[in-house]
Amino acid sequence: MARGLPKKSKLRGVDKVVAVSSAKGGVGKSTVAVNLALSLAMQQKRVGILDTDIFGPSIPKLLNLSGGEPNVTESNKLLPLSNYGVKAMSIGFLLPNEESPVVWRGLMVMKALQQLLHDVEWDGLDVLVLDLPPGTGDVQLTITQQIVVDGAVIVSTPQDIALIDAIKGINMFKKVDVPVLGMVQNMSVFVCPNCNHETHIFGSDGVQREAERLGTEVLGSIPLHPRICTLSDAGMPIVVAEPDTANAMAYKTIADKVL
Ligand code: ADP
Repeated sequence: MARGLPKKSKLRGVDKVVAVSSAKGGVGKSTVAVNLALSLAMQQKRVGILDTDIFGPSIPKLLNLSGGEPNVTESNKLLPLSNYGVKAMSIGFLLPNEESPVVWRGLMVMKALQQLLHDVEWDGLDVLVLDLPPGTGDVQLTITQQIVVDGAVIVSTPQDIALIDAIKGINMFKKVDVPVLGMVQNMSVFVCPNCNHETHIFGSDGVQREAERLGTEVLGSIPLHPRICTLSDAGMPIVVAEPDTANAMAYKTIADKVL
């Protein structure tokens, strides 16, 4: 008899889990994840974000929570930290400082991941946004096989080299029965602040083309804009810092489609 996939469990106290994934690093996944979480919190939703990027956690910095240490309950559960209305948990909170590397073998990584997945007291969330590490490796498989993920958002730039891997990511979610909600085209266009000329630095329609080919949709496009980067570095993402700008609206439109 064929052995089925292991049974997935639903995270306690969490209504919906939405994973934000990219197959490559540096395409803007964490920036999308955090701005989506913040957009949903601004709609009065109870929102958490779980940073599962064990080797490169960026949520503490993005939410201006670096250096924070989670409290532990009597039953040994970690209590998330919180800022801008979003609860957050990250391996970054459990490391001595921002510059400490995680130099662990697979077993340690899996142990840390289990703790992040099962030992956090979220205490009632409408949605938990998962910031997945890039790629389609052990961590992604473990998460998607162990817990119920209601949907996945795939972030890519329009560049062929990023898209090839994004396609692998979509196929992985299909294999583990996680519905793909759609793709986000990040860094879609650069508008010159001096002359308003639009340059498609990473190509123009790559994500649209692949989404169509794979039977999924483009949830939205985010331009390449220096404010998105500088505000992220300052620990106040654009959706919070400049909520009425077109850049913030681009994230909010995507958030409307994921719940
Ligand atoms: P990933 O999670 O895919 O590794 P990040 O979200 O950390 O990527 O983004 C990588 C870098 O690109 C960061 O410095 C971030 O501020 C910047 N960035 C992301 N999206 C944009 C954008 N649309 N415009 C400008 N900079 C961006």
